[in-house]
Amino acid sequence: MSAPALVACLECDLLHRQARLPAGGEARCTRCGAHLFRSARPDANELALALALAASILFVAANLFPLLGLEVRGTRSSTTLLDAVRSLWDDEARAVAVLVFVTTMLVPAAELFGLIWVLTALRRGARAWGAVPMLHFIESVKPWGMVEVFVLGVLVSLVKLATIATVEPGVALYSFGALMALIAAAAAAFDAEAAWARLEAIR
Ligand SMILES: [Zn+2]
Repeated sequence: MSAPALVACLECDLLHRQARLPAGGEARCTRCGAHLFRSARPDANELALALALAASILFVAANLFPLLGLEVRGTRSSTTLLDAVRSLWDDEARAVAVLVFVTTMLVPAAELFGLIWVLTALRRGARAWGAVPMLHFIESVKPWGMVEVFVLGVLVSLVKLATIATVEPGVALYSFGALMALIAAAAAAFDAEAAWARLEAIR
């Protein structure tokens, strides 16, 4: 770290001179005790990277395999998520098609790719190309990833559909359930502050 920078407490505005901390240490405000900053452990984002890698495998499975199979009066059909988006688009429900595509495919994919891209480079002690905009992007796009809303919505419609047809949950539905848990875990394990600190140190 270069010249001691000043850090303002987010709770009470008191200024502190930034000091060197032991690895994994946390600095708190001397007046109100609020969190100021943390010193990144070298392995701070190992878990987040492992979870993001596992989630990306599930993401592929969730999009390749059928979401569910339906049987109505002997006629069977099964559909993947992309089929569902396409038929929404064809049925003139274009806004819904775009929303489903963005919140369940595009944003989670971009978020996972961004995390893996930045964290694998940091792990090697390197700075990934576009790491800074990518970290900003991950932070800003987070509220738009809604895999959990999607999974709950599908479960509700499954219960309703079960009254008129035979419904077989597909591989992708289980993958989406697990993906929901893994994305939440990766997001919780991701220490953005530590990632920024390491990027700063590499520069
Ligand atoms: Zn304070």
